[in-house]
Amino acid sequence: MRRKPRMRSVWVFHLNTGACNGCDIEILDVLTPYYDAERLGIKLVGSPRHADALLVTGPLTRQTYYAAKAVYEAMPPTPRIVIAVGTCACSGGIFYDSYAVHGGIDKLLPVDMYVPGCPPRPEEIIYGLAQLLGLVEKKVRGETYRDEEHEFRPEAPIVDRLWYDLRQVLTRIVGYFDRETVLNEFVSLVKEAYRRSNPRQALRSLVEEYCAKEEDPRIALAMRLLLNEFETLVDRYRDEGYPVEDLLKGLE
Ligand code: SF4
Repeated sequence: MRRKPRMRSVWVFHLNTGACNGCDIEILDVLTPYYDAERLGIKLVGSPRHADALLVTGPLTRQTYYAAKAVYEAMPPTPRIVIAVGTCACSGGIFYDSYAVHGGIDKLLPVDMYVPGCPPRPEEIIYGLAQLLGLVEKKVRGETYRDEEHEFRPEAPIVDRLWYDLRQVLTRIVGYFDRETVLNEFVSLVKEAYRRSNPRQALRSLVEEYCAKEEDPRIALAMRLLLNEFETLVDRYRDEGYPVEDLLKGLE
């Protein structure tokens, strides 16, 4: 029986939609002989017409909106992978509310992979790129990425949906290595707060205590972001008729 050919290389095109060049320098680093991304079959190409994947850096500025669209449309129809490299490309980063910026590249293109960081370390970029090899095969077969363990299920208990929504928020600012740790620590603070008489106030105090002890400012930022999102989601669920606060009181 003939074996199905495996895809062993990915050609990438690098697109800067308004980066400060910090992320671009890290991408160049990845391509130098020190990190040598070509050993993984990842090759930089000079035209989107030859590219399997688009590496996007920087926030999506108004100036580059149509150029980015044209570059994406110039790529071959499959697998057309988009990777957002850096916090700016993931969410707009520090420029998120600028008049000149739309936000992250996902405001325009369907992003397959987020590599957050300002800028992300070369090891993080390589980790994201290395996953591409599996991703390319799936996209060529017409499959979409499924995180089965953390998959969204409309029938799931509302508390599970809350954690799912928070995990989705976290994908934009925390790297793969720390994501579960940060979320688990936040969930343990929520459980602790909901054992007290004024849970909302208690959670704010617990998060502030956590951030005061945390040495990495990026983790502290992620915790504060989770707190804001958590409060917004709890209010939204309650308005929609799901009093998630009552369920949280019963958490072990
Ligand atoms: S994520 Fe940081 S390094 Fe990258 S473009 Fe934005 S500001 Fe520059």
